[in-house]
Amino acid sequence: MAALCGRSAILFRVDQGGPVCLLTPIGWCVSDMRGGDWDRNEAVVSKTVADPLLKQVAQPGVRRQIDAEGDHWRIAWPIGDGRGPHWVVEVRSSVSPDAEVLAGMSGLVRGIDALLGQWRHANLDPLTGLLNRRTFDDQFVELIAEAGRLQRGERVDDAEKKAHPCWLGIVDIDHFKCINDREGHAFGDEVLAFLGGLIKRAFRANDKVFRFGGEEFVVMLRDASEEGVHEIFDRFRAKVAETAFPRGVSVTCSVGYARVDPLCRPVELVARADEAMYCAKAKGRNRSLGYEQLVMSGALKALGSGARPHGEAELFLG
Ligand code: GH3
Ligand code: MG
Ligand code: MG
Repeated sequence: MAALCGRSAILFRVDQGGPVCLLTPIGWCVSDMRGGDWDRNEAVVSKTVADPLLKQVAQPGVRRQIDAEGDHWRIAWPIGDGRGPHWVVEVRSSVSPDAEVLAGMSGLVRGIDALLGQWRHANLDPLTGLLNRRTFDDQFVELIAEAGRLQRGERVDDAEKKAHPCWLGIVDIDHFKCINDREGHAFGDEVLAFLGGLIKRAFRANDKVFRFGGEEFVVMLRDASEEGVHEIFDRFRAKVAETAFPRGVSVTCSVGYARVDPLCRPVELVARADEAMYCAKAKGRNRSLGYEQLVMSGALKALGSGARPHGEAELFLG
């Protein structure tokens, strides 16, 4: 008896918390195992939920949902509930799923749920829900390796596509201490959580965003052109400046970014982005600056292999 013939499965990340619920496909696989991609999709786009099945499952407290469409069935499970699921998995089947198989699948999803709960606890910052500082090092080594593959033209899955560099950006809230002093530390936390939501929504699903510490965030951009990277970071900076935060408070941030040169050590690359960020602070805050351009224009002296400690940029400001 064909109880469930899964033809394909798609995993969506759910972003609650903003004005609309966003679902982003972050991976998929098909039953013959000849296709599939997890976490490396190039063109994934977050979208508001228009699909009624997914829309329903993304609500807090909703259990598995089934929908019949012509000659196939769609079954969607929420993963990680609480104030709403963090992920939704959708399986498409060419036969009507029977109760026993569905119960088995639901058990499996509960197991995944428990494992993901542990993963979240270890890897995410509890205040913002962003990746935490602890996960940064491993992910950055991976990004540097990816930048090397792109530079050498080794991305065999898309040989036609022109490869662009990867980038590391550091975002630091301006005068955050004043917000804490004026409005209280608990409100400062609220601002951090709010900014966490903004930053998560501002970048693509395969870009990685971390809370690096305090009021500092790090963004890893994959495969962005030299011409386009400033616009990507500056669009986010402008978005923060024009957004009304809770209590109508205005918040700005300064951004520094650097190209991920695969020949550099991770500490040097972080120091480059950091220097550019401190340059943005020194030039008046609420701006985005790139390390390479600052060096080319003579505004910043190139860092040697011995990276300076955090915050000691050597500036030549005009
Ligand atoms: P600048 O524009 O130069 O970055 O100024 P700033 O005030 O943002 O920077 P500074 O380093 O002087 O102060 C950062 C403040 O961030 C001090 C610290 O108390 C606060 N902070 C760090 N972590 C947290 C947190 O988790 N919650 C809250 N509410 N405040 C935090
Ligand atoms: Mg700051
Ligand atoms: Mg800081």
